[in-house]
Amino acid sequence: AVSSNKNWTEQWPDSQPKDEYDVVIVGAGGHGLGAAYYLAKEHGITNVAVIDKGWLGGGNTGRNTTIIRSNYLYDESAKLYDHSVDLWENLSQELNYNVMYSRRGVLMLAHNVHDVQSFSRHIHANRLNGVDNRWLTPQECKDYCPPLSISQHARYPVMGGALQERAGTARHDAVAWGYARGAAARGVDIIQNCAVTAIRRHPDGSVAGVETAKGFIKAKKVAVSAAGHTSVVMQTADVRLPLESYPLQALVSEPVKPIFPCVVMSNAVHAYISQSDKGELVIGSGTDQYTSYSQRGGLPLIEHTVAAITEIFPMFNRMRMLRKWGGIVDVTPDRSAIISKTPVPNLYVNCGWGTGGFKATPGAAHTFAWTIAKDTPHPINAPFTLERFQTGRLIDEAAAAAVAH
Ligand code: FAD
Repeated sequence: AVSSNKNWTEQWPDSQPKDEYDVVIVGAGGHGLGAAYYLAKEHGITNVAVIDKGWLGGGNTGRNTTIIRSNYLYDESAKLYDHSVDLWENLSQELNYNVMYSRRGVLMLAHNVHDVQSFSRHIHANRLNGVDNRWLTPQECKDYCPPLSISQHARYPVMGGALQERAGTARHDAVAWGYARGAAARGVDIIQNCAVTAIRRHPDGSVAGVETAKGFIKAKKVAVSAAGHTSVVMQTADVRLPLESYPLQALVSEPVKPIFPCVVMSNAVHAYISQSDKGELVIGSGTDQYTSYSQRGGLPLIEHTVAAITEIFPMFNRMRMLRKWGGIVDVTPDRSAIISKTPVPNLYVNCGWGTGGFKATPGAAHTFAWTIAKDTPHPINAPFTLERFQTGRLIDEAAAAAVAH
């Protein structure tokens, strides 16, 4: 601003595609950009292009409510999400880019006996896995989050809550930008406004490259990280994935002074809330009940969410909402992600993060890069390969992801 926005150095070049790459990554969200960064930094693979049909970070990375936590039930998930939280803690230093990771704690409210029992089970399972999570009484919940109503006359009275203190939020755009800058500095090409229209295969079935809006690009390996559109892209290589795509919505209020010190989630009433550094209340809603690629979502869901929020936090009754938006999330039958090789040689996929993949960005990118570089899963993502849908070793996190996130 001092120089009238002139003479600013570019964070990364606006690259045009070369004829050929060692690795082409489809999707410049946090996961794709992060994978490119770790491929270059940890595996020395720098002849890489990350291609996006829009602008980088314009998918779910730039649309999510940024909740980060690792209090998932099963051992496999705890390892994966906690690996991510470990990476989040040092990510700003790692990228020399402030991703504004804020360990403000995530409190999950219990409103009925089932919630109490299920959260207790989660707390015990988490502790066995070295993941912090503890039980708070209603008064302790109120002390942790003063705007919360703990009136026992409420429609959904608070019976306690599970608190993960290491959990929190981060700045979504900064994550994409930080990884993009770090990857580009190591030689990765980031190509925006270039839709991948098909994955091409050699006569022997292995991957040959991608057709794009800017022509054919040859690639030794292709890795798809296209979130809600993954099944569409993968279909062009004749790979059918166990995914359904739904719109998921969020909204923010007008900005107010700091009032909300943590993140609060309520699976029973179907809403969660935090406050951004700009002062807006960031409110997450649920998915539409039908599959769709419309990036808008239905209004009844927003009404339902706002009703729930004002029920738990009556003091927000007269707040005005500023804007709402949606993103397309890709959901697997067991609500766990897929980081995997595929039946097509040299084609890899990272998807199925559904409503909760932002928190996993560093861990997913890190293990996906390993999988691409070594053509074998990292021990942490080994349980998350496609084979589980054949063997039946599913990782059923539907309870942990009930509202989502
Ligand atoms: P994206 O950021 O979506 O990147 C995929 C990219 O692929 C996009 O940029 C897209 O343009 C590109 N692409 C698609 N098709 C093509 C093509 N044919 N050619 C080229 N490029 C293509 N997760 C949490 O952990 N916590 C939360 O609080 C949370 N809240 C959410 C709230 C909302 C409203 C939404 C929508 C999601 C939320 N999520 C949350 C989920 C989270 O946002 C995603 O799981 C995560 O961001 C996925 O990252 P990604 O990099 O895989 O995908």
